Amino acid sequence: MSTVYLIGAGPGDPGLLTVKAKELIETCDVVVYDYLANKEFLKYARKDAEIIYVGKKGGDHTLPQDQINALIISKAKEGKSVARLKGGDPYVFGRGGEEAEELVAEGIAFEVVPGVTAGVAAPAYAGIPVTHRDFTTSVCFITGHEDPTKEETGHNWEVYAKSNSTLVFYMGVKNLPMIAGNLMAGGRSKDTPVALVRWGTRCNQESMVSTLENVAAEAEKRKFAAPSIIIVGGVCSLASKLSWFEKKPLLGKGVVVTRAREQASDLADLMRHMGACVYEFPTITVEPLDDYEEVEQAILTLGGVDWVIFTSVNGVKHFWNQLGEIGLDTRALGGISVAAIGPATADELKARGVLPDFVPPKYVAEEIVAGLLERGIAGKNVLIPRAKVAREVLPEELARAGANVRILPVYETRLTQQDPTEILDALAAGKIQAITFTSSSTVENFFDLVPLEALRLYPGVKLACIGPVTAKTLTRYGFRPHIQPEDYTIPGLAEALGKGL
Ligand code: SAH
Repeated sequence: MSTVYLIGAGPGDPGLLTVKAKELIETCDVVVYDYLANKEFLKYARKDAEIIYVGKKGGDHTLPQDQINALIISKAKEGKSVARLKGGDPYVFGRGGEEAEELVAEGIAFEVVPGVTAGVAAPAYAGIPVTHRDFTTSVCFITGHEDPTKEETGHNWEVYAKSNSTLVFYMGVKNLPMIAGNLMAGGRSKDTPVALVRWGTRCNQESMVSTLENVAAEAEKRKFAAPSIIIVGGVCSLASKLSWFEKKPLLGKGVVVTRAREQASDLADLMRHMGACVYEFPTITVEPLDDYEEVEQAILTLGGVDWVIFTSVNGVKHFWNQLGEIGLDTRALGGISVAAIGPATADELKARGVLPDFVPPKYVAEEIVAGLLERGIAGKNVLIPRAKVAREVLPEELARAGANVRILPVYETRLTQQDPTEILDALAAGKIQAITFTSSSTVENFFDLVPLEALRLYPGVKLACIGPVTAKTLTRYGFRPHIQPEDYTIPGLAEALGKGL
């Protein structure tokens, strides 16, 4: 028996999806979503899931409601489980009730997964608690856009006006003059604080606070449009005091992340945490080699090796994959000294039970070599599992210092076939403030995908490089790096962006 799940997808911040909603998106056969449900959640869907967009952007309905219902019913009747994703909560101005009634009429099993509704979340992210004992004893959710086919209004403006309720209007921006006018006519003071929150909880959130008397004119001046929540009541006076989200250092700033998708999430997550709108544009993919014979041989002859130096998280991952393939584990490195070039690589080793003997304080070849020399690497057999094509500085310097170096390719990076249209459009629309490069190959591949001339059109866009080598590569293309951390790590880069944007 198939089931339809009416799922609240929350107001936009991807973190506000419920655990239950995520589990259902991961398992359902069909995912049906609309305009306000964050597209990002589709990544949780099964690879073979059928994904259907049914639109709904104030008036421009991609599919009319009755056809949406018919579609969901037909999928359910095919025996499929359906995740019906709706922005916010499905039963708060989401027509979820109507969809549920239809399902009952058709004898189709359904469940509801409530979501975080915009009427609570958007104010909270703008510093407005919808209730507060000093201001109000109730909160009222109101549609600002009544069904136009209704003969009589369901609103009782006098009741709204005379109550001390916090009034939360959905879909009301266009009708703001009418809403404010009716409340004042009904007796609410013209000085009552009113707030508008647009794209609440998202990286492009904007908010403003005014009064009943002035809000319509101010909102028009500031071009406030849908989707916005309107909050009326004394609680709005707390906004300046309790503001937190809009204080994030990168709020609303568009940042392009060019790292391989396999490793992009660390930088992307840090950027999002700082409020940025992240554009993931992975320029490289990390791929296994076609042939692992050399790696197997190297692993089987580890007995003669004194040091293994891991230069990347991927090096660690692929090396251990091959250990596993031949039935070995971490113990194969017993008695061998291990170095990790960088804290993330060190963490990857620690997760496998290896505490590196050496982690250089800085990612600079000379310092790494000096540190290793101190630990007696001269004259020793050194194995470096890493990408097939990579910089030669470290192995060369080590060899010069007297180590017997063997490079062992364990994976390769390839240029991705990415369509740059989204990035070019966002650049043209002024939505991108920074592009991040975390290795020379991200720079090279980026310019394989995005024409140099295109980027030259936007001199205001800041180019951020993780370290001097990447920066040097960028200058080869005729661009100056604007942002560069002192500490050549992902957290260092994030911090530099926080200060430099
Ligand atoms: N079911 C949804 C509401 C759908 S009605 C919920 O529970 O949140 C659509 C209206 O919701 C929009 O016109 C706008 O008023 C409001 N809305 C939805 N998401 C919003 C957001 N992120 N920020 C501000 N308002 C939002």
